[in-house]
Amino acid sequence: MVHAILLAGGSGSRMQTETPKQLIELGGKKVVCWSLDVFERSDLIDEIILVTRKEDIPFFRSEIVDRYGYKKVRRICPGGERRVDSVENGLNAIEDEEGGERIVLIHDSARPFLTEKMIADSVDCIREGFSACTVGVPVKDTIKQVTMSGGNVIGASTPERSKLYIIQTPQTFKLKTIRKAYRNLKGVDDQTRSKVTDDTMVVEQYAGVSSVIIPGSYSNIKLTTPEDILVAGAFVSQ
Ligand code: C5P
Repeated sequence: MVHAILLAGGSGSRMQTETPKQLIELGGKKVVCWSLDVFERSDLIDEIILVTRKEDIPFFRSEIVDRYGYKKVRRICPGGERRVDSVENGLNAIEDEEGGERIVLIHDSARPFLTEKMIADSVDCIREGFSACTVGVPVKDTIKQVTMSGGNVIGASTPERSKLYIIQTPQTFKLKTIRKAYRNLKGVDDQTRSKVTDDTMVVEQYAGVSSVIIPGSYSNIKLTTPEDILVAGAFVSQ
């Protein structure tokens, strides 16, 4: 069985809009619906767990799931303060069942340009025997690792560009691997949890599993700041 956790529980403060970014209109439909449509269409996905802010659950149920008839959304569960808390809640919402290797894809609804091929390649990778994989693309820019003091950069080093990747979602795991990692993350202090930015780092650090990187796409952008909406609009009009 293949589960998809779709994260739509952020407030999108960096977008500087009243509307959280997952509910912004993009090409005639809400951002969250772009990913929902792809998961619904993919024969590989059995169920979708939609994670939203607690106060938004009634809206998502009536205005998104029922209105557009998303049949695979089995559960809408409340997110948490940080992304890591929302993922944890999504994982807890997957029922324990015996039988078969279960796979979970975790995807940010803020990335509307997910494709069925990304889903298929990710599921294939886990079915081939790997425990964790993510889509990603090589970086195009030079990246500096900086040392900060009092909010200022006081030093910098330059990692070799050919060894750097931009990591995207979906990220895909054997359910037992990601559950183990999140179990081990449980007792960890708040400051450390705040530094978690994706789930491959959780399995690396808390389950000792490194992830395979499979091809994502330069158009698989995450809508984070206002100019991303302009770029997304250009992709849509193509
Ligand atoms: O904030 P960021 O851009 O990293 O968010 C990535 C994804 O995680 C978004 O789709 C957002 O809705 C989701 N998220 C969440 N719960 C939070 C914070 C972010 O589901 N508390």
